[in-house]
Amino acid sequence: MKLPQTWLDISYLPLLLSATITIFTVRIIFVQTQDILAARLKDRQIAIVSTAALQFRGEEFEEIIDESDIINPLLKDIIARMQKIRDANKDIRYIYIWRRTEQPNILEFIADAEMLDPIDSDTNGIIEGEEIPPMPGEDYDASDTPEVQSAFSHPVTTAEFITDKWGTFASAWAPIKDSKGNQIAILGIDVEITDFYKLVSATLIPFVLLAILLLLILSIQTIYLVRLWKSRVGIVKELDRQKDELLSIVSHQLATPVSSIKWYTEMLIDGDLGKVTAQQKEHLASMMNISSNLADLVSMILDVSRIQLGRMQIEKQKLDLNKFLKEILEIIKPKAIEKRVNFKVEIPNNLPMAMLDKRYTRMTLENLLSNAIKYTLPNGTIYFDVAIKDNELHCKVQDTGLGIPKKDQNKIFGRMYRASNVRNEIDGNGFGLYIAKGAIEAQGGKIWFESMENKGTTFYIQVPLQ
Ligand code: ADP
Repeated sequence: MKLPQTWLDISYLPLLLSATITIFTVRIIFVQTQDILAARLKDRQIAIVSTAALQFRGEEFEEIIDESDIINPLLKDIIARMQKIRDANKDIRYIYIWRRTEQPNILEFIADAEMLDPIDSDTNGIIEGEEIPPMPGEDYDASDTPEVQSAFSHPVTTAEFITDKWGTFASAWAPIKDSKGNQIAILGIDVEITDFYKLVSATLIPFVLLAILLLLILSIQTIYLVRLWKSRVGIVKELDRQKDELLSIVSHQLATPVSSIKWYTEMLIDGDLGKVTAQQKEHLASMMNISSNLADLVSMILDVSRIQLGRMQIEKQKLDLNKFLKEILEIIKPKAIEKRVNFKVEIPNNLPMAMLDKRYTRMTLENLLSNAIKYTLPNGTIYFDVAIKDNELHCKVQDTGLGIPKKDQNKIFGRMYRASNVRNEIDGNGFGLYIAKGAIEAQGGKIWFESMENKGTTFYIQVPLQ
């Protein structure tokens, strides 16, 4: 049989857990109630048997020795008293008296209420088998009910209830003493407790109903919440997909016009379309600057959408690392000077040739270095160390800047994520690190960082040279 998908769903785990807890709790409450009722029942039996035992004296049994005493008027009187007790309480099934013997666990029978008037329980007109009452002096093996032994000193009840073909009953025994206080015999009373079981079962019904009701409420709530959550997740996923698509379309549509603006501005600056005055040149230079920034932004958005759609393409080419890094530093150094931060570079002179994607590697290093400058206050220091180890390019960009708060650290490589300490203070868009991670990992490398708020940050990258 194929289960519906939703029932296998992990979202229903809390429901399963709550259902189990509910069932267990209801069970515990029920068992406790049952125990309390059973304790009350036992108390009542002790009261019945203790009161009944007071009607007999130990000395009365001295003359009753064996079955020949069945005609003894004293025994008849004892039996009559027992019948009276039995008839006064409809729940009493048997009432009997046992005496101690020399042997432990073996008791001697003295009398019971049916002795002279046996009951034909199966109503077949013949008193037979278990219906024949025992005779005075007959032994009874009480090994199965060890609690009987303590009944000679104080009233006790059976630890367990006993069920036979006539129903469920519980036994209770109380001592019968002589006038000197010697423990001579015990009076036993077996009480029918079938009614008790009916009562307990009746108490179970509200508990079961309560459990069913609770489970029903829980199920409805969980199903409703899971459905709501799923529909929301669906909507969010769809919105995310639409946003990625829009991002991709917009950036593609923007890329060409922005390049054209740059291109025409360059032509104007170069005087290809006629002479321009010094003032016009100045404005055109600003325009050029703005369009370059715009072009960078568009290319970043394009990269983000490529990573998002899994369409990032790495084009590895042979790179002279020293030359490559020099070009990057030419762009970064002026920024450091402008921000008035110290910039310390450690790059070996004889770096080997490497197979890397030039655009993405450059973008990554430029981003790490410009971030270090951007998020470091004037007079701070930035260290840029490069090394080759195990055929890998190792770069370290360390700063003494604002750092990244601990709570933001695990999200910092996320798309458009900006840390809380700079979000409203310093301009940015949160694209750089997202692209850097995508670019480095797509080349088989790794990128990570260590940071302490207000102390500084160190970014590391390792990329294979081949
Ligand atoms: P942007 O710098 O445009 O906000 P990035 O993706 O380059 O976007 O960086 C994401 C976030 O990472 C930044 O907004 C900043 O909170 C944090 N960050 C990156 N580099 C540093 C750094 N060197 N020092 C402190 N925070 C940094």
